[in-house]
Amino acid sequence: AATPSDGPTIFDKIIKREIPANIVYEDEQVLAFRDIAPQAPIHILIIPKIRDGLTGLSKAEERHCEILGRLLYTAKLVAKQEGLEDGFRIVINDGPTGGQSVYHLHIHLLGGRQMDWPPG
Ligand code: 5GP
Repeated sequence: AATPSDGPTIFDKIIKREIPANIVYEDEQVLAFRDIAPQAPIHILIIPKIRDGLTGLSKAEERHCEILGRLLYTAKLVAKQEGLEDGFRIVINDGPTGGQSVYHLHIHLLGGRQMDWPPG
């Protein structure tokens, strides 16, 4: 896990199309793209295009409620788009102990295999 930081992240470059990503969904506020190191047959990251202080969920403020809801709703839309009718998992890693490595809030959408519980 990386050290928490509020500096630019690799996701800024993806948003600006400075590095390639396999984008599966985009609207004015949200971007979704395939994880470069997939942990399941379907592994997609869903991020706000404007970070606005959301380095991680632990930094959420009242003003973020709308974007937080939109990220979750986008996870549902993308799950359907990806054909995950039998189910899927969403994950948000937060901070070093949570295993977070990129400090721009993101939801992991995982599917296409049976998920274990509890996770590692
Ligand atoms: P975290 O560990 O912060 O919850 O998740 C960060 C995720 O970003 C990891 O699953 C990692 O594989 C993914 N990732 C890191 N760099 C890149 C990149 O350049 N492109 C894409 N598509 N995913 C990345």
